[in-house]
Amino acid sequence: MDITNLTGIGDKRAQALRAIGMNTVYDLINYFPRDYDDRSQIKAVEELIPGAVGTIRGALAGEPVNINPPRKSGGRPLTITKAVLKDGTGSVELVWFNQPYLKKYFRMGQEYAFTGRVRLQYNGQLQMESPDYELSSENQLSAGRIVPVYTAPKGFSQKTFRALIFQALGMARSSPWFPENLPLSIRLEYELCDRKTALTNIHYPESDQAFMAARRRLVFEELFFMQMALFALKDTSDQELGIMLSDTDAVPLLSGLPFKLTNAQKRVLEDISRDYSLGTRMNRLIQGDVGSGKTAVAMVAAYLAINNGYQAAIMVPTEVLAQQHYKDFGRYFASLGIETVLLTGSLKAKEKREALAKAANNSALMIVGTHALIQQGVEFANLGLVITDEQHRFGVNQRFMLTDKGANYCSPHTLVMTATPIPRTLALILYGDLDISIINELPPGRQAIKTYSVDSSYRQRLHGFIRKEAEAGRQAYVICPAIEESDSSDKEMVGEKGAAEHPMTENRPPVALKNVLAYTKELSAALPDISIACLHGKMKPVEKQEIMDNFKSGKIQALVSTTVIEVGVHVANATLMIIENAERFGLSQLHQLRGRVGRGAHESYCVLVTDAKNKITKARMKAMRDTTDGFKLAELDLAQRGAGDFFGTRQHGLPDFSIANLYRDMDILKIAQFAALAVRKGEIALSDEEDKMLESRVALVPIL
Ligand code: ADP
Ligand code: MG
Repeated sequence: MDITNLTGIGDKRAQALRAIGMNTVYDLINYFPRDYDDRSQIKAVEELIPGAVGTIRGALAGEPVNINPPRKSGGRPLTITKAVLKDGTGSVELVWFNQPYLKKYFRMGQEYAFTGRVRLQYNGQLQMESPDYELSSENQLSAGRIVPVYTAPKGFSQKTFRALIFQALGMARSSPWFPENLPLSIRLEYELCDRKTALTNIHYPESDQAFMAARRRLVFEELFFMQMALFALKDTSDQELGIMLSDTDAVPLLSGLPFKLTNAQKRVLEDISRDYSLGTRMNRLIQGDVGSGKTAVAMVAAYLAINNGYQAAIMVPTEVLAQQHYKDFGRYFASLGIETVLLTGSLKAKEKREALAKAANNSALMIVGTHALIQQGVEFANLGLVITDEQHRFGVNQRFMLTDKGANYCSPHTLVMTATPIPRTLALILYGDLDISIINELPPGRQAIKTYSVDSSYRQRLHGFIRKEAEAGRQAYVICPAIEESDSSDKEMVGEKGAAEHPMTENRPPVALKNVLAYTKELSAALPDISIACLHGKMKPVEKQEIMDNFKSGKIQALVSTTVIEVGVHVANATLMIIENAERFGLSQLHQLRGRVGRGAHESYCVLVTDAKNKITKARMKAMRDTTDGFKLAELDLAQRGAGDFFGTRQHGLPDFSIANLYRDMDILKIAQFAALAVRKGEIALSDEEDKMLESRVALVPIL
């Protein structure tokens, strides 16, 4: 039923609702509150607590008055509306600013409910400033209950929007509009309430318990169908035609590499070769800990595609990494007569034109780049394979945009690589459409990185440590969470979106974070004879590149950086990693940062610096000291901090849920996946009707 059937919705409001995708009464019902206000306790005046928000109900003690205080010079004219509410226990003054019409709104003898923050004035009088007001009635929406708070569309106040949703619910209740879409057996098994109860209580919960039950049911529903949809997507893409790559001889490339592949690398390459030979499209995720040698695997995969007459492209999230890959690929491929080009945002116009031409006319067969690869105007002659490296930094959409650049007749094979070990539960919902291969072995000869955690009283000694490594010819990283003093964190820091919702950042008093600029000064003063530089996300790509080059060549001995260096950078001579404000980072991220050292033959160290004394931080530091297994740390991270750290900086890495929140809902995710798997395997007996019901709901999931 169209929204215009609701009373109070004229053209203008209908337009505002349509603008946010609300076309039907049903859409409104599925527009969930963003928060709740517990106004279920209506208080007597004497029970009000100064400083706190309270709700009272009663009639006004007299006509409201409008007062116009003398205007301050340059100030705007001001109208103050004042009224007084009295009950047997005391009186409260109610004031509003610049709403003169309120004087006429209130009727004497009528009861109203008011909610607002209470203040105690110097004369002992209680006052509420700009309280929310509503006529008392049986269906009181804004008081005497847990009140929903919406992100109200343009032109709606909370109050009018609340009333609108209430109206929509009322309409729906009297007609069969809450079609159940979960089979009864599943609802019974997982103790989920019916849909009608859930939708009613998600807007106007009868009690805390009713709200929890409603939310649980709706979150389950959303995750369950998302998972089912991903499975369906996988079933379809498993059937998708792909380019057959039958020549799987990689010896010419392999014999040029300075090492033998590990068994794990070989196994993954077998998976890839098998995918190539099937005639369907490869859609594979490679998870491998930092330093496990994913680049070599990518190189072989690309070589095979090229050797079969196609182009291959690899997309990475940062300029620094693109440059590094360009050099690595270029070096090995040139000797095989394969031209590699680099395509990034910082190329000069002429270089860019040349690179674009080579990609388009098939003279470059290997293309390395950043997001620049998926921009308009980039064309490939004959793309057979696309690889995205450090996939956790890219969203699903970006992954698909690159695939779309493939030869028209057939989509290219895709390989995505990530060093963030993702626990299975999350991998299923993030990459449920992909096959997964894991490199679970590091190349031989790697030394375990010695990990310590200290507090900031050790800083002098750490400076000495940096000196010692530098004097031995080695290099050091120092990671700080912020760029400059005022800055709360570098924008490129993982988990940005999650920060606000993060259980551990909530209500945390602002602490001074170590910042790159100040630290660089401090360190340069302490170690004047050592060459020190800083690196952060606000620098220009060319500057960053120059610094990374100088660090690689050893000209810079100590690099003070934000997490911009987190991803994939390889400097074998770096042996010391110091991480300041270590409490700020997730375990997976710490692990990733630690992986920047220990890449060569020299003994390497990671020092976590934190002054946080709470139990959780202590446990996390201990976990870092005790284990070097990225998967184990990822599981722990998930258990301790929720899923936030796994989704990377940008929102589009994560499916858009309307109610589920993977920071909080891991438990529900697990049972939803369990149920989805059971349905998929036919382990739950369903009637034909139930089958159809599931199918039609799955079709509604907006995956892409
Ligand atoms: P990541 O998986 O983190 O991307 P890289 O591909 O950058 O790891 O590899 C890290 C280092 O290990 C590189 O110097 C690479 O040359 C080296 N490497 C890769 N595979 C092997 C191997 N099988 N044996 C020895 N060294 C290897
Ligand atoms: Mg890598």
